[in-house]
Amino acid sequence: KALSSIQDTQASINAFTHVAAEQAIDAAKRVDAKRAAGQPLGRLAGVPVAVKDVLCTSDMPTTCSSRMLENFRPPYDATVVSKLRAADAVIIGKTNMDEFAMGASTETSAFGVTRNPWNTDCTPGGSSGGAAACVAAGSVPLSLGTDTGGSIRQPAAFCGITGMKPTYGRVSRYGLVAFASSLDQVGPMAWSVPDVALLLEAIAGFEPRDSTSLNQFVPNYSDVLQSADLRGLRIGVLNEAAETAGIDPAIIAAVNEAAKVFQSQGAEIVEIQLPHSKYWVPTYYVIAPCEASSNLSRYDGAHYGHRTDSIDLTSEHGPLVSAYCRSRAEGFGSEVKRRIMVGTYALSEGYADKYYSQALKVRRLIKGDFDAAFGQADLLLGPVTPSTAFRLGDKIEDPIQMYLCDLFTVGANLAGLPAISLPAGNDANGLPIGIQLQAPALEESRLLFAANAFQ
Ligand code: GLN
Repeated sequence: KALSSIQDTQASINAFTHVAAEQAIDAAKRVDAKRAAGQPLGRLAGVPVAVKDVLCTSDMPTTCSSRMLENFRPPYDATVVSKLRAADAVIIGKTNMDEFAMGASTETSAFGVTRNPWNTDCTPGGSSGGAAACVAAGSVPLSLGTDTGGSIRQPAAFCGITGMKPTYGRVSRYGLVAFASSLDQVGPMAWSVPDVALLLEAIAGFEPRDSTSLNQFVPNYSDVLQSADLRGLRIGVLNEAAETAGIDPAIIAAVNEAAKVFQSQGAEIVEIQLPHSKYWVPTYYVIAPCEASSNLSRYDGAHYGHRTDSIDLTSEHGPLVSAYCRSRAEGFGSEVKRRIMVGTYALSEGYADKYYSQALKVRRLIKGDFDAAFGQADLLLGPVTPSTAFRLGDKIEDPIQMYLCDLFTVGANLAGLPAISLPAGNDANGLPIGIQLQAPALEESRLLFAANAFQ
């Protein structure tokens, strides 16, 4: 069923970079055989799951939606992919994304844009746009995205689904092609909170091959969803959000409405402040490109990635430099090149103190704001995005406009916190609106419990 739905929607939505029909059918057959033999089945037995094309899969290509990795087939599975297989899930294919996860609209993909199933003139968001769109289109019930600065939550909001960025380190990054290693996190996307909880249970946990993976007990997230009694829970509302110029009034109204819903369930609404929130976007757009420029240096056409077939043997810099330059010029798209240039500049001698070190200091202040806020509140409520899904083509020529899509999401990445995007109605054009809840590190259970009570 999932395969035929993908077939019906692929031309109009383009959510997938690769559909693994054969492997999926084989996997489903294996589950059936296990079931017939009375063997114990994993918690995702037979469930089709789509995987963002930045996660390594040994039996499918992994392109990061880049020409650079167009022909890359990893020799191993990412930990989250192994865990899906161990849970008897059926991996149905790889989803389209912004190239190397850099973007907020899936328009920087080298393999064509993904469209929003609610309105195909609009973006599904990004960078996990394909992962959000295939769930919203009803093709698959679950998908895996990644979130470096909002790439799970923003597309979830634009597509009217639920998406969660877990605590940094809660889910292993082993086999996730790195964008910004100190910010990247894999997470679940689905229609509902119980489905997100189930998928998180399947993928979370310690991975000894990942030095930033947390060696902490993984609770049974589904178990916390039973009650809807929020008495005693303090929910902090970010009032700066309401004052930020340019935010869609329908989104502010949805956040206020959500606060009332939580209140009616017994939660106490408290006002909190995050004084350095105006520095979130500038800090993120120094740190993320710095880490990206370093991570992407491996794609040189020799060790990894596309290699040019037009080396200039007479180049004044020699054929090796020519091969390197041409391979990278041909393999990377313009947004990736912009990030590499910004990152290289901000890390270069004489500028590193001024930009990179400074950004790390501000990052600590941002983290401090959250620590203080969580002294007064158990969860924070706010918007996910300043607008609902925008039209394809509207922001792609203007990077600053695109970067401002991340206004409310990058804080959780800079501080390493878990955060969830929940559908909360539609705007006047029928496009979905998302609201965001954020929790202290490792408090995914609290986040899911409150999110489920709202849903
Ligand atoms: N939009 C942000 C960026 O372009 C976030 C991307 C992400 O979370 N992968 O960097």
